[in-house]
Amino acid sequence: MKKYNFNAGPSILPDAALEAAAKAIIDFDGTGLSLLSISHRTKEFEGVLEEAKSLFKELLNIPDGYSIYFVGGGASTQFFHIPANFLKTKAGYVNTGVWSKKAIKEAKFYGEVEVVASSEDRNFTYIPKGFDIPSDLDYLYICSNNTIYGTEYKTDLDSPVPLIADMSSDILSRPVDVSKYAMIYGGAQKNLAPAGVTFVIIRDDMLERVARPLPTMVNVKTHVENNSMFNTPPVFPIYVLRETLKWMKSIGGMEEMYRRNQEKAALLYAEIDRNSLFRGTVEKEDRSLMNICFVMSDGNEALAPEFLEFAKAKGMVGIKGHRLVGGFRASCYNACPKESVEALVACMQEFEKMHK
Ligand code: PMP
Repeated sequence: MKKYNFNAGPSILPDAALEAAAKAIIDFDGTGLSLLSISHRTKEFEGVLEEAKSLFKELLNIPDGYSIYFVGGGASTQFFHIPANFLKTKAGYVNTGVWSKKAIKEAKFYGEVEVVASSEDRNFTYIPKGFDIPSDLDYLYICSNNTIYGTEYKTDLDSPVPLIADMSSDILSRPVDVSKYAMIYGGAQKNLAPAGVTFVIIRDDMLERVARPLPTMVNVKTHVENNSMFNTPPVFPIYVLRETLKWMKSIGGMEEMYRRNQEKAALLYAEIDRNSLFRGTVEKEDRSLMNICFVMSDGNEALAPEFLEFAKAKGMVGIKGHRLVGGFRASCYNACPKESVEALVACMQEFEKMHK
């Protein structure tokens, strides 16, 4: 049976990237060796790394004056690397859910944290707006897309202090004005690669702001100065990441990617709003293009397990909502085809007819 993959992460990757990776595991770029059995210091792998960086730069339109590096440890390691490097006295955080809360918890090991805005009052169903950003903060931290709740910033904030964003779940899904950010980072296992690699885009002046002496692997300078090669980088995920970026470029780059993502999200949100059995869970203006959350409408809550089974039988994978929100979540990352969303919409329509 055909499967429609809506997994929240690790998640769907482009077929072209998987096929290239499968080949490279057997014979990496004609070397006669597996990609998994070569030194990261070979010129072949260095070529992969350089191309991954230059495609990232091109697709996201990263201006000069920024460095990109790849490192292990996941986004969760950056939760403490960021304050270790940049929190001298006080940092500002916007609390938009689980992932920003975890980052806040780690920051408190290093200094004062001011939560400048929060959407906790309504179970993180919106993105706070119009809040003041004190000018005495070492940095302001946001999570641009909240994977669990399905909320997403639609504009790049103007911040008087260095702006740092966790873009784990919406990187390269929409255009971003990188010049407004001092640092953008994320785990790559949703839109770009298998689990195991974290991307960091950092404005070079941030390297002068390192707040304290740090162990080598924690210091951001280590990774910039050694071009992701201070230690063994995650070779395989970086290879797949490059292939994903090549695929993105081949379909028309950021503009086309964004168009496709908007189209898919519009299709599914329209069905959620039309179908009397379902309702969306977040403020319309803050709805994520990537993680689309919905529940059974009022009075129909008891149908949730039945819909989940019904959808599963139709080939839908990974649509159970996170336990903190309940209901359903369809993660429509870059590589998720429109066909999958159409299949989910058809499934919702059929379920509605059965219950009329
Ligand atoms: N930030 C966001 C927005 C996430 O969705 C996740 C993982 N789902 C994380 C951080 C944590 O990432 P990792 O598992 O790579 O530490």
